[in-house]
Amino acid sequence: MADKKEIIIKAAEKYRDMTFAAEKFIWEHPETGYTEWTANEYLIKEFEALGYKLVRADQDPKFGKIPGFYTDIDTGKPGPMLCIMGELDALDIANHPQSVNGMCHSCGHCCQAATMLGIAAALTEPGILDGMSGKIRLMLVPAEEMIQIEFREELRKKGVINYFGGKVEFMYRGYFDDVDISLMVHSSNNKDVDFACGKGNNGFVTKIIKFKGKNSHAGGAPHLGINAQYAAMLGLQAVNDLRETFREPDTIRFHPILKGATCAVNIIPDEMVVETYVRGSSNEAVKRENKKVNRAMAGAALAMGAGVELTDRPGYSAEFHDPDYMKLVQECCEELVGKDKVKFNYESWSTGSSDFGDVTSVMPGVQFNASGATGMGHGIDYYPTDLEKLLINSVKAQILVADRLLKDDAANAKRIIENYKPTYPSMAAYFEDINTLNLDKDAVKYDENGNATIDFQN
Ligand SMILES: [Zn+2]
Ligand SMILES: [Zn+2]
Repeated sequence: MADKKEIIIKAAEKYRDMTFAAEKFIWEHPETGYTEWTANEYLIKEFEALGYKLVRADQDPKFGKIPGFYTDIDTGKPGPMLCIMGELDALDIANHPQSVNGMCHSCGHCCQAATMLGIAAALTEPGILDGMSGKIRLMLVPAEEMIQIEFREELRKKGVINYFGGKVEFMYRGYFDDVDISLMVHSSNNKDVDFACGKGNNGFVTKIIKFKGKNSHAGGAPHLGINAQYAAMLGLQAVNDLRETFREPDTIRFHPILKGATCAVNIIPDEMVVETYVRGSSNEAVKRENKKVNRAMAGAALAMGAGVELTDRPGYSAEFHDPDYMKLVQECCEELVGKDKVKFNYESWSTGSSDFGDVTSVMPGVQFNASGATGMGHGIDYYPTDLEKLLINSVKAQILVADRLLKDDAANAKRIIENYKPTYPSMAAYFEDINTLNLDKDAVKYDENGNATIDFQN
């Protein structure tokens, strides 16, 4: 192992400049989900220059063109397939000083993407795959951040995508069909340690709530209008009053944004769109509490004489890190940077979400954090600062994990895969369940007397 560790460390460091350059380029070219064409093109060129043959999501004859790709590395010996993945997308955050066209990598996905190139380059070094069995799939995935929900619904209607989350879309396309176990690293601003990991995080349903009122002159004839903005505010207030009915173990989160009036200040707004998620620690809890949210929206619309269209789509599933697998990752991190620089907490639960949760719903997976960023994640002061930690340590750690999983006839990977109890027994069962989250309702309909029919659930 000592020799192998040396080979891995040397290989990661050999391609430091290439990895750093990729991070810089992608940071300087931020693009939000399903539009990451510049980063995609850059990485495709780099991967191909290293000799990799790629399966590209924009060249799949069966599906719409989206960024992202994967490549398979065969160790030459039979065994399971490990998928290591990185994300491509940035966030809309126009107030970040280094935002470009209103976008910035304030979640640090530029680091993940660059790290994937570092891994790809390192794995071309002689001897690095020695002793491993099975295959390694390196995957660049678009659209992790669940944003621009109306844009994604448009893409869905056009048939470009079927699901809003990049990994969910890749799962639907079959890009995970041969994969047995998965791994990824997310960048972090943790100052205390170099690597960290928790037990898992929330899933969610994604929502577009469109309140429909009636325009009128805001000064002269407000009595002739129906204020869609007020109806939306009332709906949000109703959910705020429902918060105490949310149960602590379900870790429900509801964080709506009003998308803004589409008319002038002297007009009663006839439309107000609310985007939100309902997050929770299980898909069952999300479904249960989401019903209350939809009921509140219908009630608020009714109170104002307005209408409301409810559009629910599958978001992400709750993410669970297999403790046996976590332990293996922890040991690799400790071997690299020392015990005092690694903190794996087997109980801590995050109320954020990732479509990596959809992956762990059907196979074992660990998403751990590499430190080195400063400022607030999703904030205007976020910067990838310590690139040695964020990128090079991350390359080393992930190859060490791959080696430990796949060495000795892939004994560790086989044990983890064998013992893992996924949320769903199969990909088909997973899709069947998340599809039940789909909802399209014109929730309040009035008859000629002004009586209403309420319909907010399937
Ligand atoms: Zn994020
Ligand atoms: Zn992120």
